[in-house]
Amino acid sequence: MKASAFAYARATSVANALDLLASHGDRAKVLSGGQSLMPAMNLRLLSPELIVDIGELSELRGIAVRGDTLVIGALTRHVDLLKSPDIATHAPLLAEAVTHVAHPAIRNRGTIGGSLAHADPASELPACMLALGATIIVRGPGGERRIAAEEFFTGIYETALAPQDLLVSIELPIAKKGSAHFFHEFARRHGDYAIVGLAAQASIDDGRFSRLRLGFFAVGDKPVLAKAAARLIGVDVTPAVLAEASTALEAELDPQQDQQASPEMRRHLAKVLLRRGMTTLLGRLDAGAIA
Ligand SMILES: Cc1cc2nc3c(=O)[nH]c(=O)nc-3n(C[C@H](O)[C@H](O)[C@H](O)COP(=O)(O)OP(=O)(O)OC[C@H]3O[C@@H](n4cnc5c(N)ncnc54)[C@H](O)[C@@H]3O)c2cc1C
Repeated sequence: MKASAFAYARATSVANALDLLASHGDRAKVLSGGQSLMPAMNLRLLSPELIVDIGELSELRGIAVRGDTLVIGALTRHVDLLKSPDIATHAPLLAEAVTHVAHPAIRNRGTIGGSLAHADPASELPACMLALGATIIVRGPGGERRIAAEEFFTGIYETALAPQDLLVSIELPIAKKGSAHFFHEFARRHGDYAIVGLAAQASIDDGRFSRLRLGFFAVGDKPVLAKAAARLIGVDVTPAVLAEASTALEAELDPQQDQQASPEMRRHLAKVLLRRGMTTLLGRLDAGAIA
């Protein structure tokens, strides 16, 4: 199938993109890498009247370290995340997760901003944002807003973005001494969307978690920052403690049925990931983490 007829505008600046979005409201759609938008248009799941192409806005591209914050422009492509020494050193969880996002052809075009705005609940990067405690920077008609990742994802393909908003960048706290990460997903083939996945970031002090953020994905209508993590902080993670956390985790997940898995299978796999993740994290500190 082909997309419905649409008008096309290439934004010349962020201000110009915001003007175009403001004047067309929800009849317009932002185009970044096009790896999710174009398939959705070709399937006629979306039929915007106007495409606002922001692909040439170099001000939205790039990775920088500012103090203890990593700033990533919305148009930074998956391949740029993969190749960046700053990401490898300061957010190794993200570097590992991106290797699971689709395939090279898609990673060469797809962007982090597009992935977060698209908000597929089975997508890797939204869950990483929860685990890393990201702040999403959005510009709209009322100016700039800073939205915590846990407030940003609101439902299946839904976010805190209004139709007139542009996601401009992402801020991540850089990995500190004593931090460790874990990423794993179950998928039919490497590069497929996950059946269930876990992105986890922890701080470990004397063999115990002093901070633990668990971002599960493909377990509901949006990525889940598991509250069960609180049961594992500041204590020895014994089999009994892990079993309690596992029961608590199960209660907070609401997985969906689809052709890949039943809700029961997803709950089971999430608990397997919890156990595997905790064992791995307690045995591994990030080599690149700074003092
Ligand atoms: C075959 C295939 C397999 C894939 N597998 C995976 C996978 O395993 N995991 C995964 O996470 N993804 C996967 N993807 C999706 C891919 O990662 C996309 O690149 C990503 O989801 C969207 O990024 P994009 O830059 O292409 O966004 P686009 O397709 O350009 O846009 C996506 C949506 O976000 C909006 N948008 C884009 N940028 C902005 C912005 N800056 N501000 C506001 N709104 C914006 C658009 O209007 C649109 O609604 C796959 C895609 C394909 C085609």
